[in-house]
Amino acid sequence: MVENVIPQYDFLALSLANPVQLAAQKFLLTNQTEVEIYDTGIIAFQPANSNITKDIVLSCGIHGNETAPIEICAELVRDILQETLTLQHRLLVIFGNLPAMLAEKREITENLNRLFSGHHSLGDAAINPERLRAKAIEDYVSQFYQNTVNSANPRQRILYDLHTAIRGSRFEKFAVYPYLHGKPWHKDQFEFLQACDVTTVLLMHTPASTFSYYASNTHGADSFTIELGKVRPFGQNDMARFSKVRQSLRDLVSLPEVATKPFVESDFALYQVSRAINKQTEAFSLNFASDVENFTSYPVGTLLATDSEIEHRVEQEGEAIIFPNANVAIGQRSMLMVVPTTVSQHLI
Ligand SMILES: [Zn+2]
Repeated sequence: MVENVIPQYDFLALSLANPVQLAAQKFLLTNQTEVEIYDTGIIAFQPANSNITKDIVLSCGIHGNETAPIEICAELVRDILQETLTLQHRLLVIFGNLPAMLAEKREITENLNRLFSGHHSLGDAAINPERLRAKAIEDYVSQFYQNTVNSANPRQRILYDLHTAIRGSRFEKFAVYPYLHGKPWHKDQFEFLQACDVTTVLLMHTPASTFSYYASNTHGADSFTIELGKVRPFGQNDMARFSKVRQSLRDLVSLPEVATKPFVESDFALYQVSRAINKQTEAFSLNFASDVENFTSYPVGTLLATDSEIEHRVEQEGEAIIFPNANVAIGQRSMLMVVPTTVSQHLI
């Protein structure tokens, strides 16, 4: 039965064969898990058990060429469809930018991860496939979370948006914790990240147009952008490097609770944003090699970038660079500067 709808249990292949649209449908697995295809690349699962305490969203391929997370999610979906993995909680899996995956590019027209929280409809840019997809993804996430409103016994909402970075990193894996508007950070989330082999966490200081900030701010989800290493083509990822995150995600969706090590701050490298450097003119250029790793730091005073007459230099001890990209539109962020920080004062 399942194979009539999803050949070879391969929802990613079915979605890539229909990258713009896939008819919604719903069916049951033998183990009574309800499967609902919302759209191409978007599939929801509701297990039959009555003890569901989490509504989990896993997303990948928001940037089309970030293949390792796409392979991890495709495998997870296949194992659920084949009933070799039994869910404990509700799960929505999102394969973000299918046309970009087919083109083996980060994006077709626009960075999908700058279009959430309504940014898909702001400004005077023409409608493009990424803008339509961002709006659709917001609507599907709302639909998934709204199906569960139960004020007497609310479920934990979780969203992990899985990426790989363009450049290497001093810390191979790291997570971005969206701005919480002064609310405390969650200890159990740091513990789960550690189980995933992610012990570098960047704490954001302002609202953002990212998917993870949208889920956190709009839906109250425990939400992260998780960077799992460097971008490589399909089939060229060393999946052994991802064994802990693969296993922890499987545990997350299939066990009542994931067994984790108690939080100890010294196990983590924690950073907060000190400032953002925005590109102001076409003359913007970075003053370091293109393969410099994320979280690299330089002595105070080092010239980092020039932008016509403007010089951007290291301003404080320990300040490190992250996500440098000279190739952004004018007015957009070309680099973030981060400094070491602590969370223990404001943690629950
Ligand atoms: Zn990405």
